[in-house]
Amino acid sequence: MERKQLLGLVLLATCLQTPTGAPRDENEKNFALKFLKQYHYLSPLKDGNHNLKDAVRMFQQQSEIPETGHLDAATIKEMHKPRCGVPDLEEEENSESGRVKRFSVSGDKWKKRNLTYSFHNYASNGVLNSTQQRKIVREAFTRWGEIGPLSFEDVTDNASLSNSSDITLSFFAGHHSPCSHGFDGVNGVLAHAFFPEFGDVHFDDDETFTDGVSTGKNLFSVALHEIGHLLGLKHSAKSDAIMHATYKPYNPNMNLTDDERLGINFIYVTSGNAAPNTTSEPSSCINTHPSCNDYADYCEDANLGSAMRNNCPVTCGICGGQGGDSSCEDIMTESACSYYQQIGYCIYSFTQTLCQKTCNVCSAG
Ligand SMILES: [Zn+2]
Ligand SMILES: [Zn+2]
Repeated sequence: MERKQLLGLVLLATCLQTPTGAPRDENEKNFALKFLKQYHYLSPLKDGNHNLKDAVRMFQQQSEIPETGHLDAATIKEMHKPRCGVPDLEEEENSESGRVKRFSVSGDKWKKRNLTYSFHNYASNGVLNSTQQRKIVREAFTRWGEIGPLSFEDVTDNASLSNSSDITLSFFAGHHSPCSHGFDGVNGVLAHAFFPEFGDVHFDDDETFTDGVSTGKNLFSVALHEIGHLLGLKHSAKSDAIMHATYKPYNPNMNLTDDERLGINFIYVTSGNAAPNTTSEPSSCINTHPSCNDYADYCEDANLGSAMRNNCPVTCGICGGQGGDSSCEDIMTESACSYYQQIGYCIYSFTQTLCQKTCNVCSAG
């Protein structure tokens, strides 16, 4: 994916209708339309969503506020919250049903597991010196390292390594290269980042980044979120997730949630020989991903559907493929499987994998 494609400002020729219940203030309405375009609720593509009501409803769903389909006060208020500049939807996503998922992945990933990062510069108007900023960012990377298979090393001090680090952190004010969406002063957009394997994260240098206080913008909070994009996660529709687009103010207990843990492990932890994006049919009716049931929604996903069907044929209900019913055997003993069935464990993926016959998960084909 090209950088321009990710954060490009695309001028739209949309046919907008005057919505019922629109704000009287024209400025607010114009702000809302610009917002919906910037974050791709109104699609930059010709065949994407150009329906304002649908766009508003998708934003409301993503924000966990009542889905009225109107630009009501709660919706406008939500749009004014400080947030991340990465669009909430891929261009192609909003042409579909508009259903917003919980954690969402970009489909891109790092090929290596040990990543290096370096600071291009530091927040200039903040109350934090460079040592403090590096410590905070290191802590944010550590949290991501704790929930998945990736590790991170700060190589800022090593001149030969820092120029070629995998990830570069920079602070910019206003317009900056190569982003066509510049920053917007205090509040609004606080930062944005690129999906793998570009490794660039930009912070808005007009913000005052702080640590451990309620004033300014908490650097740990913003960094923790942006690193998720660097690793391939998109915005989550769960408002308490770190990968939700809206800024989370200082909280001493802030940490990554199950949403991020599931997402990062889905991207980077696969078992068996099946690689993401492979299209071959499963050879037998066995789930080979440890968390297939958690990702059942993704069987038909444009990015991940093929990997899902390959790794999770039981969950995706395609066991009639090459394996057919002949492969529908229990791996565990009959007594163990019937016990699991009796206590209701057939709803879990590990039981479905080990007791696919008893749990009757092979009949879909
Ligand atoms: Zn974001
Ligand atoms: Zn930028």
